[in-house]
Amino acid sequence: MRTLTKELQQDITPQRAIDLLKEGNQRFLNNLKFNRNLLQQVNDTSESQHPFAVIISCMDSRTSAELIFDQGLGDVFSIRIAGNVINEDILASTEFGCKVVGAKVVVVLGHTSCGAIKGAVDDVDLGHLHFITKKIQRCIPKIKATDKFISPSDLVTSVTTENVIQGVQDLKARSSILEEMEYTKKIKIVGGVYDVSSGVVTFLEA
Ligand SMILES: [Zn+2]
Repeated sequence: MRTLTKELQQDITPQRAIDLLKEGNQRFLNNLKFNRNLLQQVNDTSESQHPFAVIISCMDSRTSAELIFDQGLGDVFSIRIAGNVINEDILASTEFGCKVVGAKVVVVLGHTSCGAIKGAVDDVDLGHLHFITKKIQRCIPKIKATDKFISPSDLVTSVTTENVIQGVQDLKARSSILEEMEYTKKIKIVGGVYDVSSGVVTFLEA
């Protein structure tokens, strides 16, 4: 597996970037991960980096983007925060990844059994947690409006997906740089959910 150069990165279209992640997840699922020489990749990337993706995922210890998408050093920007919510620092990091360094896809990646989602549904209040739960809770009224009698476990599942959709919308609504890059087809911004019991990433594509 070759380490990404500027030329290789520029040849990757946004759709190809999504496909590379899907193929990587498939390798992970089949236990066929690429045999990378990571020390060689340290050397290859010592002067510069040209990742093809920005992945905004949860801090959960089971959802490491490089592992579940079988990527090496210099392949992806991995931004991690409980509940994969969007804030100013994450907007700035994503803008840097795409506009300055040339990543072709942004993935907001939620996951099943997410403690942050459960905390938001249960309205847990501890220390600074409300900064995150408040962001997640924005999608609860919309879900309850369509299903008044939703069970607690179904609510957690729905909030997991809706929180990803909300994250994608937040990126476009709050960053004119990312919105413009997507409009001009320089990048794609997509959502996905990782299943911690199967290892499968399901992309939420329109
Ligand atoms: Zn989580």
